[in-house]
Amino acid sequence: MFILFVNAEPINFSLYKLDSNNPSNKPALLVISGIQGDEPGGFNATSILIKHYKVYDGSVWVVPNLNQYSILRNNRGIYGDMNRKFAKLDKSDPEYQIIQDIKKIILDENVIRILHLHDGSGFYRESYVNNLLNQNRWGNCSVIDQGTLFEYNDLNDNISQVVEYINGNLLDNLHRYRVKNTNTADGDTEQEKSLTYFATINKKMAFANEASKSLPLNQRVYYHLLSIEGMMKNMNIKFERDFDLDIKNIDKLINHENTNIVINNIIEIPLHNIKPVINYFPTQKGNMNFYSNTPIVWLFEDGKNYRIKHGNKNLAYLKPFYTEFDYSLKNVSIIIDDNEVEIPIGTIVSLKDSFEIPPLPYRINVIGYYKDGIESESGIKIKKENLIDKFSIDKDNKKYRIEFYKQTKGKEDKFAGMIILDFKD
Ligand SMILES: [Zn+2]
Repeated sequence: MFILFVNAEPINFSLYKLDSNNPSNKPALLVISGIQGDEPGGFNATSILIKHYKVYDGSVWVVPNLNQYSILRNNRGIYGDMNRKFAKLDKSDPEYQIIQDIKKIILDENVIRILHLHDGSGFYRESYVNNLLNQNRWGNCSVIDQGTLFEYNDLNDNISQVVEYINGNLLDNLHRYRVKNTNTADGDTEQEKSLTYFATINKKMAFANEASKSLPLNQRVYYHLLSIEGMMKNMNIKFERDFDLDIKNIDKLINHENTNIVINNIIEIPLHNIKPVINYFPTQKGNMNFYSNTPIVWLFEDGKNYRIKHGNKNLAYLKPFYTEFDYSLKNVSIIIDDNEVEIPIGTIVSLKDSFEIPPLPYRINVIGYYKDGIESESGIKIKKENLIDKFSIDKDNKKYRIEFYKQTKGKEDKFAGMIILDFKD
């Protein structure tokens, strides 16, 4: 679970270990994305990797959000380019600790290879074709710092196999991948400061995959996933994914299908198709935490509002209604389409036609339902047509909030949780 941040401070990255059935001492591939906050191809790909892949016969470790703070700001690097901080770095640098932490993971004895994901401009070509296709472009290539690693590991051979795998699945011939060797040790003073070169000089096989910024996000994600799969195949790591790798499916996955956010364990919001602004959102000042079933979903305070982002993309502003939280309510009996069922607080319930909440020692507020003189909306059969569209949380006006409040005489009501109603056709 991640804690909400308030201040303009760097945020720690997350590390996921995909090695179901295997002890973690198996040699691991470390996949890193999000070192630059404005390269969403990488962190959308690793988010899908974490959520939708299973790994066997080997380990894959994933850091999807190395520069989480810059991702939230959709900025290459709020504190400068993080990928230039791996040679020398002053202790006063705000990202000093993050760099130490990721170096430690790179140097972990279980990690034998590193794959670093970037979105690069144009399309790399060995020689000049035009302004978009030339040797100074970075898009759609696989990058190594040198051809071999201390004479015993052939980086060029391995990456060539990965490139071959990618090129066997091209969407368009323009996208064809090449190997780009930066020959960093021969005086490339910029690349010398990079993450992959730090790994290389520490005897770890390190590669970068660049997907072109000239491609739409879904295609960048497609090529990053191909490079990860090519690398796993090259290492004999077996994997399964729960979807067919094509653009249509990637589209669904990056557009928040089945993505949620859970706040303080008593609110669960479905994020698919969420409205850009949600008003009067119950908020406990200074004491909000969250988690999501999707690694790159984040909740944070921004001025007077709270915001939900998916990677560098804004999903919703929550306009706070400040209140105390109460955690005494666990389940609520609700009559859903004429059947009474127990529903845990902080969940989403699907229904077709109507609902009714039997009397409860809590005040019930169905957001979007209004009838004169009623304080608590219990014992009333409510249908979708009784709810006002503008109070729904989604753009299709199908999802509504029920909020529960604990009442104590002489004191302000405390928010005791939420259930989301999801009307299905
Ligand atoms: Zn980059």
